[in-house]
Amino acid sequence: MEKRKIIEVKDLVKTYGDFTAVKGISFDVYENEIFGLLGPNGAGKSTTLEIIETLRDKTSGTVIVDGIDLDKDPETIKKLIGVQLQSSGYYPRLNLTELITLFCGLYNQDVNPKELLATFNLEDKAKAMFKDLSGGQKQRFSIATTLINKPKIIFLDEPTTGLDPQARRNLWDLILEVRSKGTTVVITTHYMDEAEFLCDRCAIVDSGRIIALESPDALIDQLVAGGFERKKEVKKANLEDVFIHMTGKGLREE
Ligand code: ADP
Ligand code: MG
Repeated sequence: MEKRKIIEVKDLVKTYGDFTAVKGISFDVYENEIFGLLGPNGAGKSTTLEIIETLRDKTSGTVIVDGIDLDKDPETIKKLIGVQLQSSGYYPRLNLTELITLFCGLYNQDVNPKELLATFNLEDKAKAMFKDLSGGQKQRFSIATTLINKPKIIFLDEPTTGLDPQARRNLWDLILEVRSKGTTVVITTHYMDEAEFLCDRCAIVDSGRIIALESPDALIDQLVAGGFERKKEVKKANLEDVFIHMTGKGLREE
């Protein structure tokens, strides 16, 4: 069966003054896939995401989300998507339950805060303020809030940056769970193990251009087919395996 395109980006360009951050990129995201944007700092990943999220104006090109043209109906697109807020976006005096209730009001949705918090292993934090959460808890909460308006697509911009290995793996499981319920996920990350684990396909962005777009497996196979070999004899484990083995798999931050 032909996969349905839920995001179509064509010839997208973004200039800031006389600097061109996004230089005519095109890609499609299929419904229910986890799609990654990978690339060095400054490559144009966040700019691209924020344009699709309707938070930033593009210079030229077309963006279609779930069949809707961004130029014609950004308000409908806003209702279809979930965007992770930066931490400054949370009212400082409200606890997590109150924040969820507030978002429910904004989106005209009826979500049970207790159930939502439990899904993200935050049931003990119902009365805590956002600022008092650990890094992993903050990320889990901000992903939880993206789901309140029951979006078809969520956008996660470096959701695991700065987290410890356990918290990172815990978030991977949650992202897979979100996808298993039918949501499409667009994610950026600097962790290649994460992209390999999560992404069905990823685009490698460099200086505002997409230089590759494939499944992680295909990208690796292409490199190997071109004669690439790792220099070092690969050991059966790496230091991250040592860390996880010694400190356990459970979340430690709570
Ligand atoms: P990435 O998310 O891949 O690290 P960004 O999309 O944030 O990259 O930024 C791409 C380029 O655009 C960078 O060189 C950045 O400095 C520049 N840039 C981003 N936002 C602005 C802005 N508001 N004004 C000027 N330049 C910007
Ligand atoms: Mg960025």
